[in-house]
Amino acid sequence: MFFIDTRNNGIQADAATAILRGLAPDGGLFLPDEIPAISAEEIARMTALPYEEIAAFVLGRFLPGFDTGELLGFARAAYASFDDRRIVPLNPLGDGISLLELYHGPTCAFKDLALQMLPYLMAASVKKCGEDHTVAILVATSGDTGKAALAGFADVPGTMIGVFYPDGGVSDIQRAQMVTQEGENVRVMAVEGNFDDAQTGVKRIFSDAALCERLRSAGVVLSSANSINWGRLAPQIAYYYSAYAQLLASGAVRAGEKVDFAVPTGNFGDILAGYYAKKSGLPVGNLICASNSNNVLTDFLRSGVYDRERPFLLTMSPSMDILISSNLERLLYLLSGDPERVAGWMRALTDTGRYDVGDLREKARAEGFLGYYADEEETARTIRETWEERQCAVDPHTAVGLAAARQYRAETGEKRPCVVLSTASPFKFAGSMLRCLGRDCPKSGFDALDALSDFTGAPVPAPLGALRTKAERFSGTVAPADMASAVEKWLS
Ligand SMILES: *Cc1c(COP(=O)(O)O)cnc(C)c1O
Repeated sequence: MFFIDTRNNGIQADAATAILRGLAPDGGLFLPDEIPAISAEEIARMTALPYEEIAAFVLGRFLPGFDTGELLGFARAAYASFDDRRIVPLNPLGDGISLLELYHGPTCAFKDLALQMLPYLMAASVKKCGEDHTVAILVATSGDTGKAALAGFADVPGTMIGVFYPDGGVSDIQRAQMVTQEGENVRVMAVEGNFDDAQTGVKRIFSDAALCERLRSAGVVLSSANSINWGRLAPQIAYYYSAYAQLLASGAVRAGEKVDFAVPTGNFGDILAGYYAKKSGLPVGNLICASNSNNVLTDFLRSGVYDRERPFLLTMSPSMDILISSNLERLLYLLSGDPERVAGWMRALTDTGRYDVGDLREKARAEGFLGYYADEEETARTIRETWEERQCAVDPHTAVGLAAARQYRAETGEKRPCVVLSTASPFKFAGSMLRCLGRDCPKSGFDALDALSDFTGAPVPAPLGALRTKAERFSGTVAPADMASAVEKWLS
């Protein structure tokens, strides 16, 4: 197995190079040229394995050149700080719906599953490639990636980590998490724009050959910790297998029985990992792509037209406030197998803001991709009802996933087991939670943490409670047009 480029037939790389580079040289994304197979026996065996071993096994299949022993060491170190030994516990909600809790890591969102692992993969890739430059990771964040990447890379030797977040586009707690980050090698910058502006700015830096050359002379190579990096995406495949193994172990499904997954979606990384799980042998039925009011993906999956020319809405699920979903490019390649067509669609997206994939839409549907969305009102109702009916507090992102799962089941009459990916702790969005639950919301994000804890009876997660006493280290904003020069100044 080797890695190819979504936009160019001529590129081949090994796994370490794909991880180290992050993005292919022409702006395309790396992906494996074939999908490995995981057998029913191997899945059955996972029911007896701790999460770290499942992760090492699955990663070993998707990262040729890394051996399972090495990966097991990484997984044990990466997940040691999680506050639940099961790492990704499955929580049955009734009616065949379960929540896969992916927020037990140090930053309380699912991105920890990948971003606690990525620094180990990156360090190993540096060695395997014989790279002697400092690796500078640049991240555009809609709120959760930034903190998870900072937490993963802070003070990791041989690396620097720079994070761009949309000014005013993240929750109080998310902002506090980032601007209080400790570490000598970190930098956090607020961008005067939305997430797409930040992400486009970072991609522009990566594809600025002259800038990259100047940085290289200064001893620095750039890489990415966004889900455009294969090393970020691959660790996410493992928890789909773990979810299934947990359902098998509890007797909720029989071996081989299909399970649907509903995935709160922004950049399309998480749900694409689910598709890789399906294609490698996991009995997955449909993949419900759940969007908030920024429902560009719902429209795309229903019409085949991707059209980002629409208002960018700020919602209470900010990590999904995205109109340019980068990983969709990998799906388009997987469905079409045609890098020229993919490059054409991506050019059209940049030039005109839209593209039409025509009959590929049918193919996406046949592969199980279905689009649903929940607006703010439906999200709030889902939070309230889930609390009233099950005494379960789901964060706004998870609520979007749950609402989409319910719409899908009502529309199709489908009753097979459905796993909703629960992507963040409700405490990360305490203010929104309180408003949805009909409680008074204190002005300060920290008082909101306590109020939500009093109301639900659940303790404030330790990493969030600790923010209160931490000093802010980063302030000020940067215009999208000045991101490149800010990076160059910082790194040289
Ligand atoms: C990042 C994020 C998402 C969206 O995941 P993608 O891989 O970008 O689709 C959903 N929920 C939360 C809480 C997130 O942090």
